[in-house]
Amino acid sequence: MTRNSDIEARRQSAVSRGVAGKSIYANRALNAELWDVDGNRFVDFTAGIAVTNTGHCHPKVMQAVATQAAAFTHTCFHVAPTEGYVTLCERLNAIVDTGVPNKSLCLTTGVEAVENAVKIARAATGRSGIIAFSGGFHGRSAMGMALTGKTKPYKTSFGPLPGSIYHAPFPNDYLGISIDEALRGLEMILSSDIAPEDVAAFIVEPVQGEGGFVVAPPAFLMALRTLADEHGIVLIMDEIQGGMGRTGRMLSSEHSGVKPDLVTLAKGLGGGFPISAVVGRADLVDAPIAGGLGGTYAGNPIAIAAANAVLDVIEAEQLCARAQRIGQQLQQALATVAADICEIGQIRGLGAMVAFELVENGDPNSPAPALCNAIVAQAQSHGLILLTCGTRANVVRLLPALTIEDEVLVEGITIMCQAITTAVAAHRSKKMAA
Ligand code: PMP
Repeated sequence: MTRNSDIEARRQSAVSRGVAGKSIYANRALNAELWDVDGNRFVDFTAGIAVTNTGHCHPKVMQAVATQAAAFTHTCFHVAPTEGYVTLCERLNAIVDTGVPNKSLCLTTGVEAVENAVKIARAATGRSGIIAFSGGFHGRSAMGMALTGKTKPYKTSFGPLPGSIYHAPFPNDYLGISIDEALRGLEMILSSDIAPEDVAAFIVEPVQGEGGFVVAPPAFLMALRTLADEHGIVLIMDEIQGGMGRTGRMLSSEHSGVKPDLVTLAKGLGGGFPISAVVGRADLVDAPIAGGLGGTYAGNPIAIAAANAVLDVIEAEQLCARAQRIGQQLQQALATVAADICEIGQIRGLGAMVAFELVENGDPNSPAPALCNAIVAQAQSHGLILLTCGTRANVVRLLPALTIEDEVLVEGITIMCQAITTAVAAHRSKKMAA
């Protein structure tokens, strides 16, 4: 028995099956490489789901963390706040362009940032309604799963869900959902379900992450902005997966030129340490009364030190520009492979947030989740970790560290392309035999 399989057996009897996932038990990781407990080495194209954008164990992040850990680890912002927290908020306020002065608060996880953005929008508007989008993902708390635009597995057996939440269609050119059609769906909600003057916020991912790396067209975000302005609705952009340089800009919404009112950040912000933030218009962020926001661990000093170091690294190593180049390399390689593979229905993304969708015979309406899983398994057996996503579970997403060494990137791309070719060949012969 390998150590991996041994631990896997123990997990089966000790850990809730609700927390699903791979069985690569990590031993150590460095930049874009990971070694499991059996000594197998992997190229990591997941970055812990868009978290270690600055690589595993970036020396500057580790140094900042070690220095903070040697001083103290926790005081609680409500008891003895730290300068690092204030500095991080100042820096985030300068990064997010809402067109007016910003304020921020720090939290721990992505979904906590989402929860707090909703609280802020409700407190600022005195309204309750929230409109989210089909295929969106906003986390696993009660509010997070209610906002998420996918039922299985996120909402299965967990009801009743919080109320006053509605889902409008998200445009998707590949599936034939036009911007106009999506907006008609939204207008219908506003006329039949909830009046605009009762809506506190729209919450949207400029690039849907779990939903399949579907990029919101700029004209769609612009239309949301216009509707929000017209009716006093807060526009929340969830940048938890697409933010922090991942798409080639600090925030994925910057590509559209549409200004948000509030932004949620997490994942890549802490470079591997649990920290999230809500950043946005000061008049909104200040709406809740004193004591209404916060949390015991929110803005933990070690995570704050990591986040401040992550911002330094993104700037010093010009990781936004690097994300663009990584994205081009990934898209080019995929385009070459896809030339004679009709099962690759679409290759899409922004910057280093790239995905490809698997379908049968080039038909967008025939998703191929089994082929998608086979590609991931094939890649894993040759030393590359990939992740799936998509509302139909048929999309492979690529999220390498933005600091990945050129040769490791090329190595990963080579394994990925080979895995696609092999898995597609096996998939076709299985279909022939059936
Ligand atoms: N929003 C988005 C866009 C996400 O991708 C995620 C995590 N995948 C979340 C919210 C929830 O973040 P967390 O898992 O840290 O709570």
